[in-house]
Amino acid sequence: MGIEEKLPSGFLLSTVEGLAGYFRKGSFWPATFGLACCAIEMMATGAGRYDLARFGMEVFRASPRQADLMIVAGRVSQKMAPVLRQIYDQMPNPKWVLSMGVCASSGGMFNNYAIVQGVDHVVPVDIYLPGCPPRPEMLMDAIIKLREEIQAMPLGVNREKAARAAEQAAMKA
Ligand code: SF4
Repeated sequence: MGIEEKLPSGFLLSTVEGLAGYFRKGSFWPATFGLACCAIEMMATGAGRYDLARFGMEVFRASPRQADLMIVAGRVSQKMAPVLRQIYDQMPNPKWVLSMGVCASSGGMFNNYAIVQGVDHVVPVDIYLPGCPPRPEMLMDAIIKLREEIQAMPLGVNREKAARAAEQAAMKA
């Protein structure tokens, strides 16, 4: 009798997925990318007092090629939107987007022609964080929630997210 017949169905795949999720969540690297006042709180989160390094993600990467988390920290101007999208496209899959603060999530107080009314018009967002600005504890809480999602994520491309990203890219073209 082969090993496949002895093990419960899906045992091997779910074990590999669990391991991959464990390693992914433990090396979750954000791109260095701040847009406005929210970025000050993001920087504080990475500093010694709040110590984001506890979660294995203290390395804010200067290159999007080495990052798998984009923290959109602050309002997104119309001029910045194509740059933000380009950085997102340069990040390798799988990747996640955290919209930090009301301005990034909905335009916030900047209800005008110059500001994108929600970064989800430009990139697919995985988690929204309210506040103006959100405190470092709130950012860490959002990151921990994302890590839980990553742990449970199946291997392979997230088709729904990829479709959303492609749809947004087509709308911009
Ligand atoms: Fe600044 Fe508040 Fe907007 Fe964050 S949510 S970018 S702190 S105005």
